[in-house]
Amino acid sequence: MPAAIVTVLTFLVLVALAWLFLTRTVLGRGFSVPLRTMLRAPETAQYPEQPRPVQPRFHGRHQLNRYADGLEKCIGCELCAWACPADAIYVQGENNTPQARYSPGERYAEDYQINYNRCILCGLCIEACPTRALTMTHDFEISADNYDALVWTKDQLLSPVPPGGEDTPHPDREVRARGLNYYGGLAVTPPTLHGGRFAPATPASASRAAQVVPEVGDPTHRKGR
Ligand code: SF4
Ligand code: SF4
Repeated sequence: MPAAIVTVLTFLVLVALAWLFLTRTVLGRGFSVPLRTMLRAPETAQYPEQPRPVQPRFHGRHQLNRYADGLEKCIGCELCAWACPADAIYVQGENNTPQARYSPGERYAEDYQINYNRCILCGLCIEACPTRALTMTHDFEISADNYDALVWTKDQLLSPVPPGGEDTPHPDREVRARGLNYYGGLAVTPPTLHGGRFAPATPASASRAAQVVPEVGDPTHRKGR
């Protein structure tokens, strides 16, 4: 038999044995992973100069939202704290007073803390919140080199005052005079973070509460969410 044919047959047999080894044996399948990776183009992320966008439903750090006029959505009910499996949330509720109103409800959160040493970013707290006061942003750059810096306080979590709104507290009489339906017509979408920056809250459709009990004659009421 000519030497060239022997060489070709030997080569084909070796290729077949290599293919069987890489596809039919556990060890071979393990080796095939780095071999395939070696042939791919490298994917180098230029972080932090060029951070990659996260997925829309990414669970980043939390944010306490406001209504369009600046009032806080949080009513200090503590449902988020009770829902948290890691015991990472502390809420101290307090009554709004005739002189100072922080939220449209009877109460507001005088103190609000999230301990990111404990938080597992599961999102159960935002599901429990009845007013959509608490949402999660796309901001993941919250690492710190000490315990205290990872306990975020209310002033860190509270969203910026929307354009045209005022910071809390508001004069109570002034809020009542507005005649607004906060749980129906003045709902706003939760502001989200894009690229580490706050996007301002934008007017949105009515809240779930307003869908169940529509406000007849309320010009600000809109269906859907
Ligand atoms: S995301 Fe999960 S662990 Fe973190 S505060 Fe909310 S409920 Fe607790
Ligand atoms: S964030 Fe929501 S669930 Fe938590 S205390 Fe405020 S209103 Fe209640």
